[in-house]
Amino acid sequence: MPSKTLHQRRATAQRGYGSKWQRARLIFLAQPGNQFCVKCQERGLLNPGTMHMDGSVETNPRRIGLVVDHIVPHRGDQRLFWDRSNWQPLCHDDHDIVKQREEHGREEQGNDITGRPTYADHPWNRRA
Ligand SMILES: [Zn+2]
Repeated sequence: MPSKTLHQRRATAQRGYGSKWQRARLIFLAQPGNQFCVKCQERGLLNPGTMHMDGSVETNPRRIGLVVDHIVPHRGDQRLFWDRSNWQPLCHDDHDIVKQREEHGREEQGNDITGRPTYADHPWNRRA
């Protein structure tokens, strides 16, 4: 196994994607039902991580393979991070889309089950 530099190891661990995660994601992706991107499957495409979301062939070797995505963003929450019912296999295309929505869809973040924002400086909460 190629050994990583200390810098690389530290950078990986800081993101919460250490060797324990690398092992866990491989086991997850090897389980029945986890061989294809779930978003592509919704569109009727069985994509084992070798295609784009439109079905064309993925040629970038860095993007071949499936990403294990957290359905509910874990934001450092260890319970959410390691909860396998919160994991789903995605192709790189779909993973990028999910990440972009999480980063830009701020209005969807921090709401309780009724949709009420939970963060203190939201106008609803300031008025109350
Ligand atoms: Zn996909």
